[in-house]
Amino acid sequence: MPGHRISKAKDIKRSTTGNGVMADALMLTNMRLPRGERRSIGVSGAGHFVDAADLASSPHTRIDCDANVVIPGLVDAHLHLDKTLLGGAWRSHTASDSVAERIRNERLERRRIPVPLSVRAEALLQLAISQGTTALRTHVDIDDDIGLEGLEAILNLREQYRPQVHIDIVAFPQSGIVRCPGVADLLDAALRAGADAIGGLDPYALDQDRDAHLKVVFDLADKHAKKIDIHLHELGVEGRRSVAGISEYTRASGMGGRVTISHAFCLGDGSTAEISVAADDLARSGVAIITAAPGASPIPAIDTLTNAGVRVAAGSDNVRDLWSPFGNASMIERCMLVCWRSGWRRDDALERSLKLATFDAAAILGLDDYGLEPGCLADAVVLPALNIPQAIVERPAPLLVMSRGQIRHRATTLKTTTADERRH
Ligand SMILES: [Zn+2]
Repeated sequence: MPGHRISKAKDIKRSTTGNGVMADALMLTNMRLPRGERRSIGVSGAGHFVDAADLASSPHTRIDCDANVVIPGLVDAHLHLDKTLLGGAWRSHTASDSVAERIRNERLERRRIPVPLSVRAEALLQLAISQGTTALRTHVDIDDDIGLEGLEAILNLREQYRPQVHIDIVAFPQSGIVRCPGVADLLDAALRAGADAIGGLDPYALDQDRDAHLKVVFDLADKHAKKIDIHLHELGVEGRRSVAGISEYTRASGMGGRVTISHAFCLGDGSTAEISVAADDLARSGVAIITAAPGASPIPAIDTLTNAGVRVAAGSDNVRDLWSPFGNASMIERCMLVCWRSGWRRDDALERSLKLATFDAAAILGLDDYGLEPGCLADAVVLPALNIPQAIVERPAPLLVMSRGQIRHRATTLKTTTADERRH
């Protein structure tokens, strides 16, 4: 992925970060890259990677990665910051399994949670960052009960954390659009207020009218020049009719490359021929798929999709909320779950799973300057492993998390030396 080139002479010197804090240049040494090769890379005070050689004669702090594997910052392509119960005491799961019942339960219970949404969302965001996430897409509930309350909290959180993490916000009609008068206007207001994308949800199963649902979603996306990310839990033929509708609307609106379907259980629930037809349709239309590798629901046939040319990424989805008691915001663990559910065992497949939480997710979010090359934003994670397959299998806690060139988390086992210390 191309990264923009920056003025190295200016960038290597001490300079201010997004927080206005003076930052030293850094050098990560003894990094083990995914293919096993060793490398050092510089990190400018302004938060971009630079050639190690260009930094060598300038003052800098050195962090020895001790031959552990280094990957770019992780990208969580589907998270619900506003729903989590983290930040409060354990709460027993009470919802039954259907989507409709979980929506009803959530609307009832969320007003009884004693910890404010902003506190809970920040707890999840901090957890995600500590797990190595440096960019994420979050869906925020917009409905006729909560209105824009959740959105306002998440917009504030995004501002507060802008110097350390990229947050893409989807205005998500969790209770439906057609069946909920006023929600279309709220979505309109949410996009005006700063949401980056409009969501959707089960056009047949929830709103009982695929075209009325999709028309609102695509019209609003077009009006505000925003992206689209639709939750689709519908199974089998019904789900694939929704997939076909989303593909058709995407082609008609010229929005290829800006539309995503999350979950898409129906792409793991049918014959190979049926799923191949849908995959070709999605590839032609430029619609991407995001999966959370769900426990009891079908996982999309990722091989069939990627072979057809569909971009696929992964996301945590629900983390410790009224929809699921599970989740820890670790995208390394999510990659393991993708492998587990997809029957991937060989090293090349384990390694490929990481693309779903790095480069492919970054492309869906439209991130520029992503990767471990000079010129890219200095977002990186050091994992205590010899290679990616070992990291995916063992899911270790990161030894180091860096975003925008700043250390967000560091294990004490990694040795750090300043320029002064190296002189003595
Ligand atoms: Zn979701």
